This record gives sequence, structure tokens and C-alpha cells, in this order.
Amino acid sequence: MSDTVLARDCTAPVNVQTPVVERGQRAVFCGLTSIVWLHRRIQDAFFLVVGSRTCAHLLQSAAGVMIFAEPRFATAILQDRDLAGMADCHEELDRVVEELLGRRPEIKTLFLVGSCPSEVIKLDLNNAAQRLQKRYESRVRMVAYSGSGIETTFTQGEDNCLAELVATTPRPRGGQAPALIVAGTLADVVEDQFARLFEALGIGPVAFLPARNAEETPVPGPDTKVLLAQPFLTVTAQALRDRGAEILSAPYPLGAEGTLLWLKAAADAFDVAGAHFDEVTAAPLARARTAVGHQRETLADKRVSFLPDSQLEVPLARFLARECGMLVQSIATPFHDPTLMEAEQALLDPTVPIVEGGDLGLRLDNIRDERPDLTVCGLGIANPLEAEGLRSKWSIELIFSPIQGFDQAGDLAALFSRPLKRTAQLEV
Ligand code: SF4
Repeated sequence: MSDTVLARDCTAPVNVQTPVVERGQRAVFCGLTSIVWLHRRIQDAFFLVVGSRTCAHLLQSAAGVMIFAEPRFATAILQDRDLAGMADCHEELDRVVEELLGRRPEIKTLFLVGSCPSEVIKLDLNNAAQRLQKRYESRVRMVAYSGSGIETTFTQGEDNCLAELVATTPRPRGGQAPALIVAGTLADVVEDQFARLFEALGIGPVAFLPARNAEETPVPGPDTKVLLAQPFLTVTAQALRDRGAEILSAPYPLGAEGTLLWLKAAADAFDVAGAHFDEVTAAPLARARTAVGHQRETLADKRVSFLPDSQLEVPLARFLARECGMLVQSIATPFHDPTLMEAEQALLDPTVPIVEGGDLGLRLDNIRDERPDLTVCGLGIANPLEAEGLRSKWSIELIFSPIQGFDQAGDLAALFSRPLKRTAQLEV
């Protein structure tokens, strides 16, 4: 990795390509999938999906058919009805909520999650949440958002959830707004590492969104700065701006370089002296570089292409190209937010084609032409590609794994080197 990366000003305007927008058939999971990681993170919350049997099956299989004594998500299944039957639907929903809250007094926040069957679309869940909020005023907070498959991809489920959480969180009475909010779900271990680094840098108070308890959702004040830990939070970023926060422009904390520049954006915003920043980050940075270096031998000069799935595509491409020496052939991403991607694109080779949206047929044809050593793609596409002799990496694995931060940089690189090593072993 280049030692000169910090010389680049990530906030400066850069000459970046505008992605080609392609529309057509897609193959991605819907936003309900995000409940699998959100319910683990927000421990005082319950996610009640209002949906169909398909939604219930998706959640069960995405969650690995986990058996809990006290699960924190469920599906209220609506049968098909016409508009005249909607009053019954509301009554049914009220009954389910009453039963649930009667049995589970520990629930402090109830997310009503919308889905895409037509009978659910007819039901106004925002209104339902307001009605139920009046009924359970001081006992439970009600938040409605959409996890519907009509949205572009599964990570939008988290974006919609966090945006609604921010928009509906009451302003703290007399409490101090955090100086810095880190937005985007992180594994607890990663959050703890970042909290220690911010403390060592003298930046604080720092809050994380989502908090481990929804009741502690941070609300920004006019002086609050926000670092996005995930690149798919377009709506959440806007909700935070609406509350007066400033979103800091930075690459995402993937890899040694990404983490360093992400922390540097915060350090600059809080006037941390350069020498102190170098002192705090030197040891973990060195560890991260060494750990990535161990995987570089396998990854260097291998060709990688991205199919649209997780919205992590651009930051991952930057990491694989700059730190692992991979040759990025093409990037397709479900949705491209030029503002949130500005600092990432500044680090990317501008000749790498980026496609936003993507037509599945055209994208697969492109992969067959490119024949990369590794294709980062959705779960449903991986097997057909493997059958054609093309190695694949499921992008959803990158959402479920702790990959952010210095101490995870080596693990992140290893996720990509593993399928290549397996191929090499099979060839032997
Ligand atoms: Fe399927 Fe729509 Fe339910 Fe998702 S929300 S599981 S896409 S029916």
C-alpha cells in the first residue's frame, strides 16, 4: 500500500466518472434481510414484519432457521383482501401487537416493518404506528419503516430503519448532543475498537447509530459531526442532516488505508494534531498492513469483478485494488450516491467502468466476457457462476462479518483470498 495516501485530500473535488445507469431484471434479497443483523444489534427492540408467508420464509432462511426461546422478530401474515377489508387488517394488527407486548414486557421499541405484497402496501403502517403509539404512549416506542422488495437492495432495509429511527427520536431534553455520531451497524467488537481509538484521539462524546438499545438512539445537535461506517446510508444521512448534523466526507473503514483515512476525517474535523494522530494510529495501522500483506501474495494481479448486490462494491473495489493489488475489471452497484461515494471514487482508477442498477442478463454476459478470477456477487448467482468455472464470493457474507477497522483488515482480505486458495488446491 502506498505510504502517500494521506497526501490526497479526500474532500477536494475530483474528476470522477459518472456511472452508466442500467435498468432491468435484478436478483437481490429484499430489505427484510437486514432484520437479521439489526435485531442482533438493537437488543431492546422487536421487529414485527407485516407481510406474507414468503416474507416469513425469507426471514427464517436468512436467519439460518434460528430457534430462540424469545425471538426478537416475527411475521404477522396478512391474507389477501380488498380495500374494504383494510379495517379488519388494522384490528388484526392491533390484536397481534397487544398479544406480543402483553407477553414480552421487555420490548421497548417495536418496529413495524412493511413488505411488498399488495395487501400490505394498501395498509398504511405509518398511520398504524401513530395510532399504536398513542395507545402505548410511555411503554413502547413504535417505529414503522419499509423493508419491501420494491426497494433496490437488502442494505436499504437498514437505511430505511435508521432513517426512521433518527426522524422519530425525540430531541434530548437538556442532554448533550454527541460531538460525533458513527452511523451504520457495526459488530460490537468493532464498535469497541473504534470507541477506544476515538478516546485516544481525544474526540468525544462519541455515539453509535444504531445504539445497542434503540432507546439510546443518538440525536445530533447543530455541532454534531457524522462519520458513516456503511456506504449505503443515503436516507439516514439526509435524516441526520435534517437534524442539523454535518456528514464528514471520507472513504469507508475497510482495510488499513480506508480506516486510516476515515479516522483522519474525524481527526481533522476535531483539530487533532497530526503528530498525535500518527502516534495513536501507528501500531494498529502497522498490524493491519502486515495482516493484509499476508493475503496479498494470493490476491495480487488477480482479476475481480462486481455484480450489483450489497452497495459495498465501490469501497471493496478500492480496498482490493489499492491494498491487495487486485485488478478491478468492472463494478456494478445497485445504487450509486455520488456524495457518499466521492471520497471513495477519488481513490479509484477512473478507467474502471461503474454501472449503477444493472440488468442481470447484460451483467452476466459481461462477466462471461471478462472471465475474472473472482466475481463478488449475490448468493443466488454464485452457484451458476461456479458451474461455469467462475470463482465467486457472496457479498452478503461481507455484511454479516466484522470487516471494518484496522484489526479486521486482514480478515477482510482473507475473505477474498480463501476461494482463490481453494481453487489452487483443487487444481493441485
Ligand atoms: Fe418477498 Fe416482498 Fe416479502 Fe421480500 S417483502 S420476502 S420480496 S414478498
